[in-house]
Amino acid sequence: MKGIKIPVFLIMAAFALSCSTPVYDTVVTVNGEVRADKLGATLAHEHVLVDFIGAEQADPVRHNRDSAFAIILPHIEKVRDHGIKTFVDCTPRFLGRDPLLLKMLADATEMHFITNTGFYGAGNNKYIPEHVLNMPADAIAAFWIAEFKQGIDGTGIRPGFIKIAVEGETLSDFHKTLVKAAALAHKATGLPIMSHTGKAALAEEQIEILESEGVKAEAFIWTHAHLEKDMTKHVEIAKRGAWVSLDGFRGKPEETAELTEMVLNMKINNCAVKLLLSQDAGWYDPEIPDGSNYEEHTLIFDYLIPELNAAGITDADLNRFLNKNPGKAFTVKTRLKE
Ligand SMILES: [Zn+2]
Repeated sequence: MKGIKIPVFLIMAAFALSCSTPVYDTVVTVNGEVRADKLGATLAHEHVLVDFIGAEQADPVRHNRDSAFAIILPHIEKVRDHGIKTFVDCTPRFLGRDPLLLKMLADATEMHFITNTGFYGAGNNKYIPEHVLNMPADAIAAFWIAEFKQGIDGTGIRPGFIKIAVEGETLSDFHKTLVKAAALAHKATGLPIMSHTGKAALAEEQIEILESEGVKAEAFIWTHAHLEKDMTKHVEIAKRGAWVSLDGFRGKPEETAELTEMVLNMKINNCAVKLLLSQDAGWYDPEIPDGSNYEEHTLIFDYLIPELNAAGITDADLNRFLNKNPGKAFTVKTRLKE
């Protein structure tokens, strides 16, 4: 039987193409995919707007988008002037999440904005609609997976991570369901999971649920880890593979001292590769339409970073916390146990 002859130049062309088409890790922003290594300096936990009215009244959003934009824009320009290229907006649905507002800000500043899917269980489930409280994990995950695949509310804007929030001494049954839903949604989408978590015990409980669902700790961002004062826990959880996000800062001297100690502790214990740094500021509130309560996203530059430098944190370290690490943490890819 005669074999089919393939011209040599075609084989060579196919080979050259396969070698010259690199596959990059990507992050999903409100304006589409961006190479993870091109995100630039990133604030990993901020909010342009939060509406505390409660789930039943906050969706669809009730603020005037144009007025909010006018108030928020100068604050974003200010952070851009500090060299920040990417802003991770952690306001979930039912708390004022507004992807179109983020897109307006991204277009006006030429920065990247990342929004999220997920539900926020902290605050006594005030930000969870009643009917969601009895849903099984797969039904909840289905909402989030649909937002990733089809975009949010017909905007075509896709989420770049899953945001959940838990609280208490141990996880309630519903909060366990949220974590399980996050695991299922991660497996279907590759979206990283950021969880509003205080103490280490809750972070550990969540990581155990993720691992039991076959998801590695690498997919988990322990946000508000600074609320855990036992710094050995930051190291333990980082060594397990999770991201440790130190991200609550209002510029007070005691916060500066404490965060400096926490950052140094991570560096000394070889966990700098797992550290994220941000300040959880902003918070335009539809109840305060003049924006007089808005907290600047530049507090870490004004107060914390000079102190970190004085304590021996180098520019290379800062580049890691603000640039390399967020690119890796927010890369959209599944992190599954073998
Ligand atoms: Zn926050």
